[in-house]
Amino acid sequence: MILSIESSCDDSSIAITEIETKKLIYHKKISQELQHSMYGGVVPELAARLHAEALPKILEECKDYFPKLKAIAVTNAPGLSVTLMEGVTMAKALSLALDLPLIAVNHLKGHIYSLFIEKEEIFPCTILLVSGGHTQIIEAKNHENMRLLATTLDDSFGESFDKVAKMMGLGYPGGPIVQEKGLKGDENRFDFPVPLRQSPNIEFSYSGLKNAVRMQIEKLGENGLTEQDICDIAASFEKSAVAHIMQKIKKLFKTKNAKNFAIVGGASANIRLRTAIEEFCKQKGMKLYLSELKYCSDNAAMIGRVAVEQYKRADFTTIDDIDVKTRIKEF
Ligand code: ATP
Ligand code: FE
Repeated sequence: MILSIESSCDDSSIAITEIETKKLIYHKKISQELQHSMYGGVVPELAARLHAEALPKILEECKDYFPKLKAIAVTNAPGLSVTLMEGVTMAKALSLALDLPLIAVNHLKGHIYSLFIEKEEIFPCTILLVSGGHTQIIEAKNHENMRLLATTLDDSFGESFDKVAKMMGLGYPGGPIVQEKGLKGDENRFDFPVPLRQSPNIEFSYSGLKNAVRMQIEKLGENGLTEQDICDIAASFEKSAVAHIMQKIKKLFKTKNAKNFAIVGGASANIRLRTAIEEFCKQKGMKLYLSELKYCSDNAAMIGRVAVEQYKRADFTTIDDIDVKTRIKEF
């Protein structure tokens, strides 16, 4: 079995995965959303402190599995450096104490492997990753051949929901709240721009749309936003945010074919996005895969699933070599 640890942002999570069967034996996650909500976003120092409290508590529940472990896996990039350090430090200590090899896992690969938790692997597959920090399209041919096709120039899809929610004082994370408000709003009341509409490149940008929303809020805000204003802003913003992704995906598939398409990451919970992609995949004859909602946001089960593959090809690191990275350029 492999014990995996995840602490790249605001979820403390540990999982145990069986190597042979790839079965998830144990999984626990303690989320810090509530604690960060009052700040309208994740406060790194607070997050690190909460990981330091939560991770040992979860680990204690796993003690009985220790004799069965063959490796310790941990997310080492990308993420917040102070929170990644919490998981990596614990993993180093376990590796030393139990004399087990260490596996460093790319968190974004983890989001992709959330599709494969106790499920068939899907290769080849074109994957849209929409999370709090990333908006990417990845071509996954097999476990070792994954290529980045598109990414964002600035903010991510999920992050733009967080920022729009913060502007309207709606709390964190913004995605579910903005989505809920949007369901009650008029998506045609505000004409927010669809980013990079004219650009021939397959790339994303959310800062312009975010600023357009900010300006609209300031315009209305002199007398305070009504509940209807909030719902209309949410609906109109969401319409442009999703249209942007769909325009780029349509552009991409003008010159490319695929059998399988998948959406992963916390923001893949967005209903408007899911519906638009479902329709597109139907038109194109592509099979659409979604990870289970409980594995969409950060968790150690997906990290353990990646680690099983790395274990099989002896892709290990050492306590001297492992480092944390806030960003990564390649898969
Ligand atoms: P990363 O993996 O890039 O470091 P993360 O793991 O912190 O980021 P996730 O947990 O995958 O991000 O996703 C959280 C993000 O998803 C938040 O930005 C949140 O607002 C967004 N999100 C969640 N639900 C929805 C929704 N229904 N609509 C839009 N965005 C959503
Ligand atoms: Fe994540």
